[in-house]
Amino acid sequence: MKESARVQALGVAGAPSPGRLTTSYLLSGGILVDAGAAAHGLAVADRVPVKDLLLSHAHLDHTLGVPFLLGDGARPRIHGLKQTLDAVRDHLLDGHIWPDLSDLAEWHEVAPGAKLEMKPWEIEVGPANHTVPCVSYLCRAPGYAIAIVGDTRFDESVARWVADRDPDACSVEAAYPDEVAAMANRFGHQTPRDLRQWRAFLGAECEILVTHLKPQHEAQIRAQCAALRDPRLRILVDGEILRG
Ligand SMILES: [Zn+2]
Ligand SMILES: [Zn+2]
Repeated sequence: MKESARVQALGVAGAPSPGRLTTSYLLSGGILVDAGAAAHGLAVADRVPVKDLLLSHAHLDHTLGVPFLLGDGARPRIHGLKQTLDAVRDHLLDGHIWPDLSDLAEWHEVAPGAKLEMKPWEIEVGPANHTVPCVSYLCRAPGYAIAIVGDTRFDESVARWVADRDPDACSVEAAYPDEVAAMANRFGHQTPRDLRQWRAFLGAECEILVTHLKPQHEAQIRAQCAALRDPRLRILVDGEILRG
């Protein structure tokens, strides 16, 4: 039987707190995009062997589940920029913070422009503009495409890259409220005001799925997103099934 395109947002928060998990998407075919909720976003009984893990960047809220994916016999392939993979191997799996389990995964460097076949998905690596090297992933299966944009400050070239691929949905961050836009930009993040620019780039049919809200600012960010009054735009919640 052909596997269909299924996407579940396991975690979408910008920092962990009770009831809030950090970035991780589970795609059909045993694919994870980021590992922030890889360990605690699914009950053990519901877990599937992860064949491929796509990392956007090395920050802890996106990689903290990596050590827990290794050592159960599955031997996942871990894809990411060279700088991302080096950071995870050198600082997370270096034998100090966690046992050195790096030989229990296959490491696969990617760069923007790369295309990866992972049935039923075709994955394309794209840009992001963050404080450390970071990428976005366009995940396309028959009948459905979603852009999972990495942590980013607003950058027209990133928005244009997504728009040119005309996805059905685009998950993109608004980590901070507008009042601290300068700080958000310094930390390589966006605020709801930036989502107005995304709206101008993306097609009228593209769902804008807002993520990475910092828990301490969540009420403010929610109010500012609601004030945009755009039926295409909504804030994701942990565990939400986006497709399938
Ligand atoms: Zn980050
Ligand atoms: Zn992050």
